[in-house]
Amino acid sequence: MTAKTLVPTAREDPWEMALRQFDIAADYLPLKRGIREFLAYPKRELTVNFPVKMDDGSVRIFTGHRVHHSTVLGPTKGGIRYHPDVTLNEVRALAMWMTWKCSVAGLPYGGAKGGVVVNPKELSSDELEHLTRRYATEISIMMSPEGDIPAPDVGTNPQTMAWIMDTYSMHRGYSIPAVVTGKPIPIGGSQGRFEATGRGVMIAAREAAKHLGTSLKGSKVVVTGYGNVSSVAAYLLHDLGCIITGASDSRGGVYNPKGFDPRALLKWKAETGSVVGFPGTERLPIEEVVTLPCDILSPGALEGEITGRNAADVKAKIIAEGANGPTTPDADEILDKKGIMVIPDILANAGGVIVSYFEWVQGLQQFFWTEEEVNQNLERIMVRSFGQVLQTGQEKKTNMRTGALIRAIERVAEALMVRGIYP
Ligand code: NDP
Repeated sequence: MTAKTLVPTAREDPWEMALRQFDIAADYLPLKRGIREFLAYPKRELTVNFPVKMDDGSVRIFTGHRVHHSTVLGPTKGGIRYHPDVTLNEVRALAMWMTWKCSVAGLPYGGAKGGVVVNPKELSSDELEHLTRRYATEISIMMSPEGDIPAPDVGTNPQTMAWIMDTYSMHRGYSIPAVVTGKPIPIGGSQGRFEATGRGVMIAAREAAKHLGTSLKGSKVVVTGYGNVSSVAAYLLHDLGCIITGASDSRGGVYNPKGFDPRALLKWKAETGSVVGFPGTERLPIEEVVTLPCDILSPGALEGEITGRNAADVKAKIIAEGANGPTTPDADEILDKKGIMVIPDILANAGGVIVSYFEWVQGLQQFFWTEEEVNQNLERIMVRSFGQVLQTGQEKKTNMRTGALIRAIERVAEALMVRGIYP
């Protein structure tokens, strides 16, 4: 289970990446061998193969996973991904990153993640509902408002969460909104949740610019993966005076060195299905987008966008990771040498889980906050966490990713030692 012996492959396995990052940070801490291994292993994993009745009357079998990485700090929290490339190792990595993310933000949660191997774009709405309700039932032995609270991730959205909440509630006989977060507002969703991750990315980028003594006004920004996270990050940074020059989705990239309106791009994507073809932009291959000239780059698609092969060509001064695991450890080394400030995923995209925490608290109390209250509290936690991570990185003479992981691992290890090893 140690990452040190692992050989980097062409497309790095996310779980190997997560373990390599863990090893780098754990080396800074005086952890006994058994405790270190315990912190790395996922606590429990469930794989389910389940049938779904399709619109044409046929039955298709789907595979899904739910992994709880750690329950040391509290109930587990983590999104559910619908994507054809989902693997158990990817879900393991995403669950581990959730543990560290919650720890960095000071939330009372451990990490989890779920995924179904499916291309949601190929299913009708009815088929997606059937798949979601069956998957929710299959993983319900792992899920509860006290034990494990899912949320949206790539390929899922507030509607998916509504189906999960309804399915879980139907089995219990009464409504249990706190079993998932990222729900639509009418069934207990939180104000500000939809924008929370992108807002957190914006705050992280803003704090980084402040630290480097540069102004956001006129800064050029490129984002990848124009979905929930990146589109919001783009328009909130635009509101602060940034010029958005590049974006991408699964069909391609778009670029205009003079900038474009990110809200108009969102509208275009909603109407046409892609960023590609947005009037006034030049089309680019997906892989060229991360190396476009810019001040701030926010990778917001999937894992492994910035690797040992393209990191040397990255021109941004700040990288604010909207996606989970977009930068491989090999790339980190190169970016460090180039002096690029990388705000790691477990800090930069923590806004989503922070507001999910607010949504969970509101759901349990049945007492709801205004959007202003949500955003103020998000701002407070993001700014505090950014400062703490920066400080740890400086004290330990390392980059922000390792600084964040040191803080995160230390907090979980401390809680583990206080709780003790049962029995
Ligand atoms: P969405 O499904 O809303 O968006 C994902 C976007 O990535 C889509 O626009 C998709 O394109 C695009 N995409 C897929 N493959 C590629 C590719 N190879 N190159 C470029 N773009 C690609 O997901 P989210 O915005 O929710 O999540 C994005 C990332 O942020 C993930 O890594 C996720 O784990 C992370 N994250 C999400 C949080 C949340 O609250 N949602 C919280 C924290 C992290 P297309 O539209 O064409 O399918």
